[in-house]
This record gives sequence, C-alpha cells and structure tokens, in this order.
Amino acid sequence: MDFLTSPLLPGLIQAAYIGAAILFILALAGLSKHETARRGNTFGMTGMALALGATLVLAARNSQYGDQRPLLVTLGLIAAAMAVGAAIGARRARTVEMTGMPELVAMLHSFVGLAAVLVGFNSYLAEDHLEGSLATIHDVEVFLGVFIGAVTFTGSIVAYLKLSAKMKSTPLALPGRHLLNLAILIASALLLAWFVPVDGNLGLVPLIAMTVLALVLGFHLVAAIGGGDMPVVVSMLNSYSGWAAAAAGFMLSNDLLIIVGSLVGSSGAILSYIMCKAMNRSFVSVIAGGFGSDGAVSGEARDYGDHREVQADEVAELLADAKSVVITPGYGMAVAQAQYPVAELTKKLRDKGVDVRFGIHPVAGRLPGHMNVLLAEAKVPYDIVLEMDEINGDFAGTDVVLVIGANDTVNPAALEEPGSPIAGMPVLEVWHAKDVIVFKRSMATGYAGVQNPLFFKDNSRMLFGDAKERVDDIVRALG
Ligand code: NDP
Repeated sequence: MDFLTSPLLPGLIQAAYIGAAILFILALAGLSKHETARRGNTFGMTGMALALGATLVLAARNSQYGDQRPLLVTLGLIAAAMAVGAAIGARRARTVEMTGMPELVAMLHSFVGLAAVLVGFNSYLAEDHLEGSLATIHDVEVFLGVFIGAVTFTGSIVAYLKLSAKMKSTPLALPGRHLLNLAILIASALLLAWFVPVDGNLGLVPLIAMTVLALVLGFHLVAAIGGGDMPVVVSMLNSYSGWAAAAAGFMLSNDLLIIVGSLVGSSGAILSYIMCKAMNRSFVSVIAGGFGSDGAVSGEARDYGDHREVQADEVAELLADAKSVVITPGYGMAVAQAQYPVAELTKKLRDKGVDVRFGIHPVAGRLPGHMNVLLAEAKVPYDIVLEMDEINGDFAGTDVVLVIGANDTVNPAALEEPGSPIAGMPVLEVWHAKDVIVFKRSMATGYAGVQNPLFFKDNSRMLFGDAKERVDDIVRALG
C-alpha cells in the first residue's frame, strides 16, 4: 500500500500526536472549572480518537517493514483487543453506580501499572538490536518502568479493596514498616546495578526479583495508609499511573505516551499536593505510609452525652423561617442519590427568598470533586457552591446548616482532639451556626472510624433515615 510506505507518513503521524497532546492539555484546562468541564471532556475524547487513529496507522506502517506479520493480521489483532476492551469498558461505564466510581478508578490505575510491567518485560526480551549506551539507557527505562508499574499495580489493588470495603480501611502498622520500605528501595537499587551490565536474558533474574519486591512495596505502602488519608492515596496512584504510562512511552519510543503519561503524572502529583494541603498532611508522610504518625486507628471512645432527634416537618418549619441556609453534603448524599431532591429543596427555598449556599469540603465523598459532580448533575447553580475556605467564616451568621450524609468532613474532633486519627484536618465548622440538622441513618462513624461530637452539641439535631427520603419529606412539607 503506497500510503503506508509514503515518506510523508511519519511526519503526519507526529503531527497527529502533537495535535492530540494539545487537545489533552486543553482537556485538563477545561476540566479545572465546572463551567468548562464538558468542553474539556470533548477535547479529551477528540484527542484520544486522534491518538488511536494515528497509532493504528503507525502499527499498520510498521507491519510493512522487516519480517513483521501481514497487515491484516496486525490490524485484526489490534481490532480484536480493542473490541474486547471497549465492550468491557462500555458495560462497566453503563452499569457503575456513582458510589462505585472511586474503586473503579483505582482498578483502572492498576491496569496501567500492569501494562507498564508487561511492556517492560516485552521490551527487555525484544531489545537485542541495541548496543552500548543506548542499551544501557533502555535497560534503565525498562527497570524503572517495571518498578513504577508494579508499585502502581498492587497499590491500586489495595486501594480498590479498601474503597470497596472488601478490606479494612484501618492502616496496617507493621513494626519497622519504614525500614521495610527503605530496605526494598535499597535492594531495588542494588538489583538495578546488577541488571544493567548483564548481557542477554540473564538480566531477567534481577528484573523478576525487583518486580516481586516492587509488588510487595506497592501493597505495603497503601495498606499502611489509614482511611482518612485515602483521598491522597487515590490521587497519588493516579499520578503513579501517569508515570508508569510515561515509562512505557520511553520503552516503546512513543512520544505521545510520554507526553500523556507526564500530563497525568504531574496533574496527579499537583492534585495530591492540593489534597495534602487541604487535609493539613505532609506529602512525604502520606507517601511513606503514615510516616511520623503513631499508627492511631480510631479516636478514644468518649461519652459525648445524648443526641437529640428531629422530624422532617419540624425541619421544614425551621427552613421556612430561616434567612440563610448552608448545605454541607458528604458521601451519604452520593449513597442516597439525594442530589436531585436537594436541588429541588434549594430551588424552593430560594424562591421563598432564603439565601441558600453549599459548603464543599475538598475530601467530601470518595473522589476529588465528588460532591461538585453530583450537584452539577442535579443542576444546582455553580455560583452558590462554595469551597470550604470560602464558607468557613460564614457559619456564625448562618441560621440553619443541613449536613446531608457528611461526617468526617464536619467533625470538630479534628480540631479539638489532638489524639484523633483525623487531628489537624481542617473541617467545615458547621457547629458555629444557629441550628445544625444532621441527615444520616444511624449514629455510626464516618469513613475514618471516628465518633463525631457534632452530633451531641446543643444546637445539633439528628434527622434519621435515608437522606433522599428525608429531603423528599421536607420538600413535601414545604408545599
Ligand atoms: P463520611 O464517609 O465520613 O460519612 C458519610 C456518612 O453518610 C456516614 O456517617 C453515613 O452514616 C451517612 N450515610 C451513608 N448512607 C446514607 C444514606 N443513604 N442516607 C443518609 N446518610 C447516609 O463522609 P464525608 O463525605 O464527610 O467524608 C469523606 C471521607 O472519605 C473522609 O474521611 C475522606 O478522607 C474519605 N475519602 C475521601 C476520598 C475523596 O477523594 N474525597 C477518597 C477516599 C476516602 P449512616 O451509616 O449512619 O447513615
């Protein structure tokens, strides 16, 4: 085929890759704001379609040279792999509940890690044409790629298990755990020194040994992180998966994969930094798996006194008389799918002249931006959805706060109890408001397993039951 052997084709493929890279950058920029997020997604999808198309042409072109397999076989194999992947992906995307997104994302990160490991081994076994410094550079790429991939793979599986509650979210505090991590890092560095100069497939021994150690390290790093710090882990694994993809790009000499991997890696790292700042945690301590913490797993079981209950019609009366209302949603709103009645309630109150705003904690829910996505889905206007820092000073002048399925993110123990596992994490200081209504089904603790003294404060009342049903009741009572 003339098209495939044309000397212009490599340039066209590079141009398509640059176009795709620019579209990915525009996608990231678009995704940083509510208003432009849809456009950002469109840029991302277009970029991915362009990248896939160009890669298919590249694969077809490569099959025209050397003793590669026939074109139709190459394209057939790629099409079969894409069809299987697309069918599974489309089915999962259609069936996944919004509450299942975090574990799905963690699972997807593990695939990137596994892919980097497989690409690394494949690339090592197929490298025999390289010599001298090029071979050394390639060996280092393979070694680092497999290392990052393996850590990402098991780390993401543990994150998946913890987020889907198939594994306890309490941190695994092995004695000497930091020494164990350090020993694995040193052993891996020594294996690298053994691996690079070895000729032929003998290097497989140190490569396999390092892979096993990296798999253990990934497992141990994430297992050692407690429930409250999981948001940072999710964004950190996102970053690792980007670096793993970039490493695979180096191994395959694919510029687009290097660019995309670096974009994901650095945006994940920036997100991890933002999450750490929001939670008042040091980045190093979270990455090292609870480094510097004493491994506290739950708050002291204190007697905070009695809680008081309230009924939906009483809350409706309270809201009708209020001038200002702040709604602080949390993971329970996602579980109950209460965002639609919450949006309806907001509209009703605003129509009556009540000033309604939302206060969003950076780690509310189980994904960065989880609450913003739900509220946008229910068409709550963006301008009344405020970040924690923007609203925290306003609670003292607020008549009623509705805490809808939030727990850890409104827990005063974070500020008042230094021994608490969430100590030091900034929270929405809802208790400064005149009245606080807490929507939840029981007195159970939140994700970090810490009892919440907010529920026992004089100005707090509990509205028990499923958040969606209770908000529906209030909407009905408001008439
Ligand atoms: P929490 O997970 O602390 O608490 C959620 C509350 O919702 C529970 O106490 C539960 O109480 C209640 N709830 C559950 N289902 C319903 C329902 N159907 N109706 C009413 N209430 C319900 O939520 P927050 O959002 O405040 O905190 C998020 C936590 O998750 C933090 O610890 C954060 O660190 C962690 N995390 C966050 C991630 C992120 O990226 N945002 C990622 C990983 C972890 P009950 O059972 O009594 O109803």
